[in-house]
Amino acid sequence: MIYPWHQESWQKLTSCQDKLPNAWLLIGQRGVGKRTFARHLSTALLCENPSSPFVACGKCQSCHLSSQNSHPDLYELTPIIEDEDNAKKLLQIKIEAVRKMIESVHLTPLRAKRRVVLIHPAESMNVQAANALLKVLEEPSDTVIFILIAHSRDRLLPTIKSRCRQFLLPTPPRSEALAYLRKNKVEHAEEKLAFYGGSPLLVTDEDYGDLHEEFLHILTAPKLLLILNIAEHFDKSKLPLSLFLDWFHKWLIDLIAVSQGCENVFYPQHRTRLAELVEDIQILPLFALYDKVTNLVPYGQHTLNVKLAVESLLIDYLKLTLDI
Ligand SMILES: [Zn+2]
Repeated sequence: MIYPWHQESWQKLTSCQDKLPNAWLLIGQRGVGKRTFARHLSTALLCENPSSPFVACGKCQSCHLSSQNSHPDLYELTPIIEDEDNAKKLLQIKIEAVRKMIESVHLTPLRAKRRVVLIHPAESMNVQAANALLKVLEEPSDTVIFILIAHSRDRLLPTIKSRCRQFLLPTPPRSEALAYLRKNKVEHAEEKLAFYGGSPLLVTDEDYGDLHEEFLHILTAPKLLLILNIAEHFDKSKLPLSLFLDWFHKWLIDLIAVSQGCENVFYPQHRTRLAELVEDIQILPLFALYDKVTNLVPYGQHTLNVKLAVESLLIDYLKLTLDI
């Protein structure tokens, strides 16, 4: 299965007459269906009886195993979440994991005529892991095909990119994304799609309803007591700081956009209030706060003092709006 907005991409990929590449690199915004596309591709590559190239039969044992996500010739490499309880430590793909994968995939395929390795997101490989993978990509094997998935092309080593056939998977047009969400009975589809930057598959994630609303209420009318309360709520809910940073980052981007006379993107329902706020906000401190939040984003999954971080950032925001 692939999403309707990727049908055209699928035609393009499969109509290429060149020899199969040793590695594909699928690039696209988070939450548009890259992994689903990659699995569809791997199913076709592993099918024992394809009706034509890239068309899996859907009946053979390999197709059955692929549909169960348990094909022995499919190897998926993803970052390991060390602490699943509070999801505060999202690890990188490290060299040990890449080495283990290399040892395994060079054995003879068990069922299909080749093995497929899915790496996602490829940018989560650290430098050592990426270099270990590069060595394999430099010595292609006829029985192994790599499919790398990346949200951000810029965070991959140029040497890795140059070894892959790169393929862009587009974000669906807004009308198509909204149609998909409405079909899935998502409430407030327009607001949610805007908040998730046009990625329909992120919208079905939990939206933290009340806490997010409480947070937005504070941003529209910040008060110290409310800030202290929400910092405590956030901490007690054991949510990672990254979630707060995402919400706040998007709000600041919207404020900056409005201050520059542009349309805001993420919170269209608060457009009027954002316009009122920027009347009194000093622009330079606003940019400084935006930079501060941006710099914290890479640490959002690590254990930090969440309460203190939320308090401190929101107090900076309060100062902005107090015009001091
Ligand atoms: Zn098949």
